[in-house]
Amino acid sequence: MQSEPEVTVRLRFAPSPTGYPHLGNIRTALFNWLFARHHNGKFILRIEDTDVTRRVEGAVETILDSLRWLGLNWDEGPYFQSQRLPIYREIVHKLLDEGQVYLCYCSPQRLEKMRQEQIKRKQPPKYDRRCRDLTQRERTQLEAMGVTPVIRFKTPLAGETTFLDLIHGLVTFKNDTLDDFILLKSDGYPTYHLANVIDDHLMAISHVLRADEWLSSTPRHVLLYQALNWQAPQFAHLPMILGPDRAKLSKRHGATTITEYQKQGYLADAMVNFLALLGWSLDDHTELLSREDLIKHFSLERVGKTAAIFNKDKLEWMNGVYLRALSLGEFVQQAMPFLDRDLPETVKRPLDNDYVSQVLSLIQERAKTLADVPQLASFFFDDVQYDAGLLLSKKRDAKSAAKAMTIASQKLEEITTWDATTIEDVLRPLATKLNLSTGELFGLLRIAITGRTAAPPLFQTMAILGKGKCLERINKALQLLSGLC
Ligand code: GLU
Repeated sequence: MQSEPEVTVRLRFAPSPTGYPHLGNIRTALFNWLFARHHNGKFILRIEDTDVTRRVEGAVETILDSLRWLGLNWDEGPYFQSQRLPIYREIVHKLLDEGQVYLCYCSPQRLEKMRQEQIKRKQPPKYDRRCRDLTQRERTQLEAMGVTPVIRFKTPLAGETTFLDLIHGLVTFKNDTLDDFILLKSDGYPTYHLANVIDDHLMAISHVLRADEWLSSTPRHVLLYQALNWQAPQFAHLPMILGPDRAKLSKRHGATTITEYQKQGYLADAMVNFLALLGWSLDDHTELLSREDLIKHFSLERVGKTAAIFNKDKLEWMNGVYLRALSLGEFVQQAMPFLDRDLPETVKRPLDNDYVSQVLSLIQERAKTLADVPQLASFFFDDVQYDAGLLLSKKRDAKSAAKAMTIASQKLEEITTWDATTIEDVLRPLATKLNLSTGELFGLLRIAITGRTAAPPLFQTMAILGKGKCLERINKALQLLSGLC
C-alpha cells in the first residue's frame, strides 16, 4: 500500500533588508530550512522590503550570500514585496469595500501628541480610533483638505483572539489590547502585517517559524486571516538567543553578522551545527550533528520555549572539531583564500599548492579557525622577525647559544637526505655533546627557524622549509647572537 503523501509543507524565510543578517536571523532561516527539508517540503525566500526608510544598502546581497555560504538553498524566490504592491493594494481595497478596514486621516503630529499624552498618563500608546466612525461628510471634508489617508484595520473592540503555537501551545490575546493597526501607509506601501499575511497566503505557506519577538503580531495576523476568510498557517515562535549573562545578544558576547563569521574563518558546516543547537536539541548530550543528521532529526517538539544561550567558546571548539575532520585536501582548499588574503604582500602569489599542502599538514591540528592559518603558518612563507633576546634563556647565554648553533649548523650542512628522521637523528645526539637538554637545544633551533617559541614539530617543520632556508635562518640567528656576545 502506498503511504499517504504528506500535506505540502512550505516554509519561508522572510527577512527585512534593514541590516546585515546576524545569528538570530539566520537561526530562523536554518530552522525553516531544516523543517522544510525534513518534510520534503519547499523553502521559499522572500525579502520584506516595504519599509523604505529602513532599507540598508547591500543588505539583500549579504542575506543571499549568508544563505549561500551556509548551504541553505531555497526552492523559490527571492520574491521582493516591493515588486508586489498592486497585489496588497487590491486586497486592502476589497477589505475597504467590505467595511472591515477604514481610512484614517490623522496627521503624524496628532498621533505623536496622543502618544506622548498616553505615556504621561501611563497608558499603553494606542490609536484612539478617531477616524473609525467618521461620517461620509467628515471624510469628504478631510479629503478636500488634501490629507492622504492611511488604511487601518477595524480590530474587534471586545473578545479574544486565540491561536495554537506549535511551541508555546494555545496563546490568547484580549482584543482590547490590540489597536487598529495600519495596513497601508500614506506612501502607498503596505505595513509588515498586511504584506506578510497576504504573501503567506498567496505563497501557500504551511508553517510560519519566526522569532519570539513576533508573537505579539500574530493575533493581528490571525484577525486579518479571519477578515479575509483565509485559513491561517501554523505558527511556531522560536526562542530568543541571549548572551551568557542573559542579556540581549551583542558584539560584546562575540556575536556578529554571519558574513563576519565567514571572514573570521568559521566553517559553514560548523556554523550550521552550532546554530541548530541554539534552541533545538536532539537529546541532552549530542553536540556534533552533520547536516544530514539535522535534517533527519529536526522537529519542533525539541525546540525549547526558553531563551537559548550563545556561547562563543563552544562555537570555537566546534569549529576546531570540524576543521580537524576535514581531509587535508579539503583543508587546503578552505584555507587557501585565507592565506591569500592575510599573508604579507611580499609573499609571492600564486602560492604553490604542493608546498601549501605540506605546510598545512602541520597546521591543521592547531587552527581553531581558518583565519588562524596564515598567522600559524607565516614563517613557512615569509622571513622571520624576532627579538634577539628570545634566543637566550636562563640556561643559555649568548655564547653557549652561539656555540650550539654553530655546531648544529655544521652537522645539518652535512645532511644529504633532508627529511625529518635524518634531521632528528643528527640533532638529538648533539644535545648531550653540547651538554644541553634536548629541550634547550631544540627550543633554540625552533626560535631561529620559526621566530617563535611555540610552533609545529621542529623536524617536520625543518624538512618542509628545506635545507637552504633552515641554514640561512640559523646563520641569521648567529649574527643576532654575535651582537649580544
Ligand atoms: N520581515 C520580518 C523579519 O524581518 C519577518 C517576520 C516573520 O517571519 O513574519 O523578521
